[in-house]
Amino acid sequence: MNGTTANAGTEWTPSSWRSRPIKQPVEYEDENAVQKSRTKLNRLPPIVTPTEIWRLRRSLADVAEGKAFLLQGGDCAELFDYCNENAIDSKIKLLLQMSLVLIWGGNKPVVRIARMAGQYAKPRSSPMETVDGKQVPSFRGDILNGFAPDARDIDPDRLVQAYFHSAATLNYLRAQISSGIADLHNPLDWNLGHVGDQELQAKYTTIVESIRESLRFMKTIGADTSGSLHAIDLFTSHEGLLLEYEEALTRNLKHPSNRNVPPTRKPAPAPKVSPLTGGALLNPSIEGEEETSGYYNTSAHFLWVGDRTRQPDHAHIEYFRGIENPIGIKVGPSTSTSDLTQLLDIVNPRKEVGKVTLITRYGSGKVEELLPAHIAAVRATGHVVVWQCDPMHGNTRSTASGVKTRSFAAILAELSSALKIHQQCGSILGGVHLELTGDAVTECTGGSVGLQDEDLGERYETFCDPRLNEKQALELAFLVAGSQRG
Ligand code: PEP
Ligand code: MN
Repeated sequence: MNGTTANAGTEWTPSSWRSRPIKQPVEYEDENAVQKSRTKLNRLPPIVTPTEIWRLRRSLADVAEGKAFLLQGGDCAELFDYCNENAIDSKIKLLLQMSLVLIWGGNKPVVRIARMAGQYAKPRSSPMETVDGKQVPSFRGDILNGFAPDARDIDPDRLVQAYFHSAATLNYLRAQISSGIADLHNPLDWNLGHVGDQELQAKYTTIVESIRESLRFMKTIGADTSGSLHAIDLFTSHEGLLLEYEEALTRNLKHPSNRNVPPTRKPAPAPKVSPLTGGALLNPSIEGEEETSGYYNTSAHFLWVGDRTRQPDHAHIEYFRGIENPIGIKVGPSTSTSDLTQLLDIVNPRKEVGKVTLITRYGSGKVEELLPAHIAAVRATGHVVVWQCDPMHGNTRSTASGVKTRSFAAILAELSSALKIHQQCGSILGGVHLELTGDAVTECTGGSVGLQDEDLGERYETFCDPRLNEKQALELAFLVAGSQRG
């Protein structure tokens, strides 16, 4: 099967994924209840708009070309319960603070995307698990079932609850940003007291001082009066896993007039007539004539397809190929180069720059072996992607007592290798994808906070994968920035 025969040529609709085989399937028992949720979701307004989605697409085209850096981060599994003031504030502040450090390091703008306001569905390796000696269905994220062992039945009403929690989170996020939470003159907590290593502490202090000095300088010369230091862009994202939900929020909407389609490499106009059906394609792309509308997933600015659901001929890729949003694809040790290039042709037949972000997650022990071949294969296709390193998902391990964790050293090692390999291959590492929280949790080991396996019990609060805490996340930003500066 080559790149164009898996999906292209057949008519795409928001529901065409339903005729494909699917991984991580969801079996709802009460079809009437699902229909009720679907009808409700269909009527509700978009959570994000095409104008915003295109603003992100243009920014990601800059990232693909090395003119900006992408920082994406948030919880592994966002709970409805995280829809509260403190949890949202601390995450915005942490992402802002990390992005300041990365701007300093790379000397280029940083595009921020939160894993937030919709990251409610989780793929699981097993449908059942043992809790207190009893077999129960696995927790699949708040959009499907509850974490409490007696709440594990799939509940279709959660589809609607997901919408409202997502909308409330984004509403507060927008309100806080327009009220100046990201005003760079608000004092940020740069406390480095936990950094015992004197050399490291000196290094981080130099970075903080340099950032502070730049801000003071801009204030002095009045360069901060344009408003750009008071408001930031913070986009939202989640894994597009539960297609029932994604379909219900997919709308045919007018393209914004200023969408400025990013440059394409070797433009390859789609065939005007479907080779399989002989009928017109959905988006015929008649040369010289602009399409006036397209299908937008209005639940988030950016969606990614997970490592477990990216089979080229399966349901998730079928859904993803039809939406205008920028999309991510997780790439791991089991991704073959032929699948990878085929996927790019399916989801981005016009080779639009920055439309696709490849989120690589091999593990620190495998990145050196696997990344160079993937870079070479993508380059040979002419696709210009955003390369983003997810140093979390290939580095999960269990402690002797069976606690799921990740070590800061392994996370940093994969990220440093990815930076180096891209440089050596004449490619660009465009960004980083992290699981983090603004709270002082104890889920990942290491870093200057010096957490050991035995310490993890203190505040182990994740409902899925272990996250970097606020100090570990900021430290990772310092180290990346330091190595970018050389
Ligand atoms: C995730 O990002 O939380 C996730 C499940 O990742 P992956 O699909 O790469 O395993
Ligand atoms: Mn995860």
